[in-house]
This record gives sequence, C-alpha cells and structure tokens, in this order.
Amino acid sequence: MSKRINIKKGDQVIVISGEEKNKKGKVISVDPASSRVIVEGINMVTKHKKPRSQADLGGIIHQEAPIASSKVMHVCDKCKQATRIGYKMLADGGKVRVCKKCGETFEN
Ligand SMILES: [Zn+2]
Repeated sequence: MSKRINIKKGDQVIVISGEEKNKKGKVISVDPASSRVIVEGINMVTKHKKPRSQADLGGIIHQEAPIASSKVMHVCDKCKQATRIGYKMLADGGKVRVCKKCGETFEN
C-alpha cells in the first residue's frame, strides 16, 4: 500500500535529510505512485543532451531530479516553520489542510 503524500504542487518545502538538508524550495510536481516529489532548485542533476539536429545542438542541461517525499517537510507560509499537516473537517463535509503548529489553513 502506498503512503499518502500530503504535499502538493506549489507548496513550499524544506529538505530535512540528506546532502541538501535545510534547503527550501517550491514543489514543481508530485508523483504519488513513487512517493517522490520534484522541488525547484533541489537535487539538481546535470544531463548531457545529444545533438539531434543542426538547430538542436544539445549540450548540458541542469534539472531537478525527484526526491523521496519523506525527505521534505511542508513549510507554513504564516509561521515559517517546517510543519506537519493536519486536516480539518468542514461543516459541508469537505476538508482542508491546516498547519499543526499555528493552525493556519492552507489554500489548496
Ligand atoms: Zn503555521
């Protein structure tokens, strides 16, 4: 059974383990199947691209590689702390994500 990821695209996160510990960035994409996320500016890798035509000369590309979602934590916009996310049930049956530290409700 795959673990639910409660990080979403557009969230600010902080890296909590590994070589890039304490770096912050914005989540670009989330892959629930592999429990991995791609975070802007985090886990950059260098790829050598082969030229495919005269117009496409190839070269060196820097891009983000996915990292395990367990290595990042959500950063709250309001209290600026790395936080766990809680859920709050709404009167209409929906639920929203909330910061477990300050109680701030997240938009998405
Ligand atoms: Zn907060």
